[in-house]
Amino acid sequence: MSKCLMCGTEFVPSKFNIGIQKYCSGICRYKYWVKNNRIRSRAIKKAWKKRNWDKVLEGQRRLFKIDRAKRPEYYRMLVKNRKALIRMTSNSGKTFSTSFTLQEWEQIKKDCGYVCKICQRKEPEIKLTIDHIYPLSKGGRHCKENIQALCHSCNSRKKDRIDSVPCIRHTDIENSTPKTCSSG
Ligand SMILES: [Zn+2]
Ligand SMILES: [Zn+2]
Repeated sequence: MSKCLMCGTEFVPSKFNIGIQKYCSGICRYKYWVKNNRIRSRAIKKAWKKRNWDKVLEGQRRLFKIDRAKRPEYYRMLVKNRKALIRMTSNSGKTFSTSFTLQEWEQIKKDCGYVCKICQRKEPEIKLTIDHIYPLSKGGRHCKENIQALCHSCNSRKKDRIDSVPCIRHTDIENSTPKTCSSG
């Protein structure tokens, strides 16, 4: 019996390798080499990636698709963030790096009891959508302080008017301008 240098497992060396076999498997031999040749192995990996760039991209695309299928809401939120940032940037000429997270959105909906502020209907009868209390077109920010939950029909009826029916967590925004949002 020999003991694997990498994982410590006891193994029976093949009869041709008695005394020279140090690893239980090829995988362990490779792992051991990588562990002791970090810089070289990184360089080799980099060179391989450079030669096989199409494979790398394909792998990334595949992983992205799997992830998107797993977390569709998260990716929808990213798209919304990007659109909002483009609008804010084109309105003000400044660039923003803010992002509104899915968790923050879930919290807003929870705080409001999953009820649309205007028509008082509740999920799942309606679907709550993101509404900017101060519209982006009027200098409002895409951040949790400036977002309330409205159903789709109330949201589209409201259009670019600045009106909020404050829920508990939005009362403080009544006296403040959108400029005070942390994202501005
Ligand atoms: Zn091993
Ligand atoms: Zn509504």
